[in-house]
Amino acid sequence: MLTTTHSPLSEALTGAVVLPGDARWDEARSAFNLLLDQHPAAVAFPADADDVVGAVAYARGAGLRVAPQATAHNQGPLGGLENTLLLNVGALQEVHVDPAAQRVRVGAGVKWDRVAPRLSAHGLAGLHGSSPDVGIAGYSLGGGMGWLARKHGLQANAVTAMELVTADGSLVRADADHHPDLFWALRGGGGNYGVVTAIEFAVHPVDDLYAGALFFPFERSSEVLHAWSALLPTLPDELMSWASVMHFPPIPDVPAFARGRSFAVVMAAYLGDEAEGRALLKPLRDLGPERDTLATVPPVVLGDLAMDPLDPVPFHLTHQLMDDLPAETIDELMAKVGPGSGRGPTVTILQFRHMGGALAREAPGAGARATLPGEVCMIALGAVFDEHMDVAVRDALADIDAAVLPHAVGEYPNFVEVPADASRFFEPGAWNRLRDVKRRYDPADQFAGNHHVPPAGDA
Ligand SMILES: Cc1cc2nc3c(=O)[nH]c(=O)nc-3n(C[C@H](O)[C@H](O)[C@H](O)COP(=O)(O)OP(=O)(O)OC[C@H]3O[C@@H](n4cnc5c(N)ncnc54)[C@H](O)[C@@H]3O)c2cc1C
Repeated sequence: MLTTTHSPLSEALTGAVVLPGDARWDEARSAFNLLLDQHPAAVAFPADADDVVGAVAYARGAGLRVAPQATAHNQGPLGGLENTLLLNVGALQEVHVDPAAQRVRVGAGVKWDRVAPRLSAHGLAGLHGSSPDVGIAGYSLGGGMGWLARKHGLQANAVTAMELVTADGSLVRADADHHPDLFWALRGGGGNYGVVTAIEFAVHPVDDLYAGALFFPFERSSEVLHAWSALLPTLPDELMSWASVMHFPPIPDVPAFARGRSFAVVMAAYLGDEAEGRALLKPLRDLGPERDTLATVPPVVLGDLAMDPLDPVPFHLTHQLMDDLPAETIDELMAKVGPGSGRGPTVTILQFRHMGGALAREAPGAGARATLPGEVCMIALGAVFDEHMDVAVRDALADIDAAVLPHAVGEYPNFVEVPADASRFFEPGAWNRLRDVKRRYDPADQFAGNHHVPPAGDA
């Protein structure tokens, strides 16, 4: 627990408050991306929903904005956080799983790693993404695109209710019957509408799951990406696959076979039996991978499949949603950052995720982030450990963006790591409705979501 400094703010809640100059200040204000250097006015750690009410009331009286935070995995877009109370809900750790109803209720500080194993034991899975370390609240508020997304869509639209403290200090429940406009806006509009204290969502039975990864030598990256891209139009919604070029650091956290090595990797998760899965992936297996981990597995395995880092990392990241990944774009990308490009491991991971399926279909009753455009999502990340790498990574990511831009059809806010104009993430109708709901629930713009939705009427 972080130290509590005595201040008027600390009288507003029972949980800890950390102020500039406190021994734990740097820890309290730090984010998953270690390149960030944010300076909020204070950081509060409410112990429960009443504490959230107290902290929000204090901030209102003190003229501070409130930035809700769970795990700090996407704090970059918030900028410097001047004149803002950072409100970390990490202590809200309630977890209730109802396997019969296929429903989950969690406190806003809960990460996927506390829920996925319990669901898996009941043959169920939630719509989590690549990292079990990501918070369910922030992931769901921005969209949530994971392993089962082609079959079941975005996690935001699996949400059945949220409880939140709004700008007037009330603790409200937003669902299809209560505050339906607010419920719509929260599912994609992010942390702009209040501090979420609890979230409820539907999960899915997983009878059969065939999942794992095919590892190929780095030198074969081009061949693997071409084969993967050609396969996409043949794949059913039950099969999600991601193709990556990955450079693993030589650290103990990385499995021994991969430590310090580079690979082209195709990861896949198929909601079906092994024989069907093998048949669907045959063209890739026929290439002769160096290592093949595909097997019938319980859903909990999906949490580890992508091998995402669990500890904070200093990094730059870019992404694009693309209508296609044509052969010439793969060639251009490989020439810029692949084997023989001379760039070595500058781009730690260049990943392509298959999209489409349920991601492109608006479900009845969906929220503001109903769908995502594109057939492929490109994500590129470069770890940065010194100034030289900072320049090299920025240059490499800019080259990647230039290569894929002709096929870019949109952006996904959860993958945007820098301050941005959020209007470009939504269709004009949805954007205007988000701003209208903001005007009704937070007219003074007290809440700073990671991607800002200003109240209607504000410039
Ligand atoms: C390693 C890694 C892997 C990832 N993999 C995926 C993936 O596979 N698929 C995918 O879709 N995304 C993925 N993401 C992106 C992830 O969805 C976003 O970073 C998401 O915003 C994280 O939410 P959080 O609560 O963990 O982080 P935070 O930084 O704590 O929250 C992000 C934002 O969410 C809002 N928020 C959080 N909690 C609350 C709350 N209680 N009340 C109101 N607003 C709140 C705030 O606006 C906050 O700024 C990944 C990110 C990382 C770093």
